[in-house]
Amino acid sequence: MVINITRWSPDTCGCVIDVSWDDSVPGEQRKTEHYATVEVCPIHESLATKTHSLDHKSRRDKKLAGVLDIIQERNVNRVIDQINKTKHAFHRRQLQQGHLAVQSHNRDVREEYDAIFSEPHVHDSHIYDIVLEENQRKNRVYTHLLENLQVDIHETGYHFAGEGDKRTLHPHIISLPKTELDKLHKEFDKTHGKGKVRIVTTIAGDDK
Ligand SMILES: [Zn+2]
Repeated sequence: MVINITRWSPDTCGCVIDVSWDDSVPGEQRKTEHYATVEVCPIHESLATKTHSLDHKSRRDKKLAGVLDIIQERNVNRVIDQINKTKHAFHRRQLQQGHLAVQSHNRDVREEYDAIFSEPHVHDSHIYDIVLEENQRKNRVYTHLLENLQVDIHETGYHFAGEGDKRTLHPHIISLPKTELDKLHKEFDKTHGKGKVRIVTTIAGDDK
């Protein structure tokens, strides 16, 4: 099992979240899990934990150890292995220099994660769930509108209204008859929750 950490930022808000995944699991079955909430954007700020929980330290220590294990495994062990194997002095010197660079990089990573894990919101996996849902909602609605219905999207795209966990997605569509619009809204209410998607037709007077 090889755990990887990827820094993710959606195109639907400014939050930054580290997620972990296991690269020994095949792509389709792979599950991405929340690892650390790095930054919370102003839209989701009200949902963030403001004070350290009682178990903050133990959870932080566990996760930090995890990060260090990952970089250790990834960088240091491999270089040490190479240094031990090589028979050429010049090559060994080069590898040793590389090893110093890796150690310095690892120190930077460690410092960065120390800062990330000092924040009370670092364990806020609910923020990841909400941000991910919004991002997927936008992508799914767009796939539906463009690929299944061939609806004309206005060049301004979409916007979200509201904040926290109460954001409504407003796709901008050039025109759509009211009956079609009502039908779509009913479908979206069923798939994404009531009132979570409301289409805006940007050219007035087209509701024939
Ligand atoms: Zn956000």
